[in-house]
Amino acid sequence: MSHQPVIDGLEFARTGSKLHGAWPVAGFSRLRDALRTDEGTLQYDLRGVAQERGYPALHLKVSGALQLVCQRCLGALEFPLHIDVSLGLAETQAEIDAEPLAAEGPERIVAGAEMPVRDLVEDEVLLAIPLAPRHERCEGRDAGAASEERSPFASLRGLVGGTRH
Ligand SMILES: [Zn+2]
Repeated sequence: MSHQPVIDGLEFARTGSKLHGAWPVAGFSRLRDALRTDEGTLQYDLRGVAQERGYPALHLKVSGALQLVCQRCLGALEFPLHIDVSLGLAETQAEIDAEPLAAEGPERIVAGAEMPVRDLVEDEVLLAIPLAPRHERCEGRDAGAASEERSPFASLRGLVGGTRH
C-alpha cells in the first residue's frame, strides 16, 4: 500500500536530515474514531536538528484538514491542522522520567532506530484535535438542536452568557 518510511531518530537529528510527504487521512487508523469522514490528505515535513535546548530534536510540521463532528449540532466541522512542534529526543524513557517536568520545555520522546514516521505524525495530530470540537458559530444552537443537549455545561454556558448581556 502506501510507503511507510521509518527513521533512525538520533541519526536523523544528528545529520540534520529532512523528509516530507503526504498521506491520505484514511491511512491513519487511530484517527478514524474522531472523524466524520476520512476524506483529505495530510502533508508532513520532518527535519532533524542536532542540538536544540540541549537535546537532539525532530521538528515536525503537519498541515491539512480533518472532517470532524461538531459536538453541539453533530454536523460536519472542518478542522484545519497547523502543527509545528519540536520533539526533544531521549535515548530511553528513564532519561525522560529522571528529568523534572518543565512546562516550557520541549515535548520529549524516546528515539528509536526504526521510528515509523506515520506514527509520529498521527501522535501529534491526535494531540491537536480538540476533545469536543464545536463550530465557532454553531447554527445548531439557534436551530433548536442545542435544546436537546443535556450537558450540565450547556445550561451553565447559558447562564454565563445571560449575565454578560
Ligand atoms: Zn455545530
